[in-house]
Amino acid sequence: MKTCAVVGINWGDEGKGRMVDLLAEDYDVVVRYQGGGNAGHTVVNERGRFALHLLPSGVFREGVMNILGNGVALDPENLMAEIETLARAGVEIGAENLAISERASLLLPWHRRLDELEEKRLADRPYGSTKQGIAPFYADKAAKKTVLAGELFHPDELREHLAALLAWKNLTLTGVYGAEPVTMEELDAWVRDWCEPIKPFVRDTGRILREAADCGKSILFEAQLGALRDIDYGIVPYTTSSNTLAAYAPIGSGLPTLKIREIVGVVKAYSTCVGEGPFVCELFGAEAERLREAGAEYGAKTGRPRRVGPLDLVATRYGVEMQGATALALTKLDVLSYLDEIPVCVGYEIGGKITDRFPFPTELAAAKPVIETVPGWGCDLSGVRKWEDLPEAARHYVTMLEDAVGCPVTYVSVGPERDSLIIRE
Ligand code: GDP
Repeated sequence: MKTCAVVGINWGDEGKGRMVDLLAEDYDVVVRYQGGGNAGHTVVNERGRFALHLLPSGVFREGVMNILGNGVALDPENLMAEIETLARAGVEIGAENLAISERASLLLPWHRRLDELEEKRLADRPYGSTKQGIAPFYADKAAKKTVLAGELFHPDELREHLAALLAWKNLTLTGVYGAEPVTMEELDAWVRDWCEPIKPFVRDTGRILREAADCGKSILFEAQLGALRDIDYGIVPYTTSSNTLAAYAPIGSGLPTLKIREIVGVVKAYSTCVGEGPFVCELFGAEAERLREAGAEYGAKTGRPRRVGPLDLVATRYGVEMQGATALALTKLDVLSYLDEIPVCVGYEIGGKITDRFPFPTELAAAKPVIETVPGWGCDLSGVRKWEDLPEAARHYVTMLEDAVGCPVTYVSVGPERDSLIIRE
């Protein structure tokens, strides 16, 4: 059985969406297994330009079954809004191409509110949350204080469960944050307006996946964010609240015993980071502005300007290790064409010592980048489709990355469109 996970090697926004949109052609099932509506996968294809937040990027391919696994933060409001946006562009989503795990937990109306309240309380030291309620959601999931999508089919028990959660959560909203309590009327309206419409999609997705596996169908797993945002292995606490690693895909999907054969790690040709936290190779001033403009680096969800820097080989090597990548996809190589000389971060200097190992999170604040430059190629790459047609300097850039991180670069992306890609045999 063909199984593959497409995962982020760095801080997220590496271009996973475009890779999934491309690879989905060869797969029967595409699964999102973690995260929620807090990030955006941008897909550009013949139907237009789309920012997907929760839906798997396989929704544009006919005949593909898309699954939202039990590991996702299922926000019915965001999901329905996304389905409507796609419908307006002629992309129909129905029970034949989307299934939601009955074991997915629901992001409740107070999660977004709590996210905002907590970021406000943190004042000048925020975590940089997108305020989509993800951290409060996963905290409550771990505390067993949310509801499963499958409970929507048991309305009486659901209402009782929600009333109990409401009484508990209002203690925090009013007592800790001095905010307005949520009322049962608001919850009833939320169930009616947003949860009822998702019911046709809610199923035992573990079974769909097992049946797919039994008849030899191929499954593609799509991650959100990147290795450095993993809650266990990332730059804690500036991570997301779920596991972004490929190793979590079987658990977050409904097939916990599955071994994934292929892991495509997506790396951007330079570094970007949204939100707060240490970002060792960060560029500032005019140099940063130029790169941000060249790469159109503004958040897909928030529109926030992304922090930018050169390719960070230290962080990338760590990401490759954590993901267990079997192949890399290097994206946005075309963006670097304006540079005569390209800076690359080859090490970190911490307390006078140079290291090529990614340090413990606390040590990151003191780390300084060790920068070397490599020659640029000085021409537009966006029309190149064959490895041999890439300028020597661009090929060198790719092989330098491979050598540094010990993983082959199989895909080189030179534009956002589906076919703007070089596949190396
Ligand atoms: P994801 O969250 O990992 O899917 O990444 P994002 O969608 O946030 O960011 C990737 C952005 O880069 C999107 O706007 C893509 O359309 C765009 N993109 C992806 N690959 C390329 C590429 O090779 N070249 C250029 N110029 N843009 C790309």
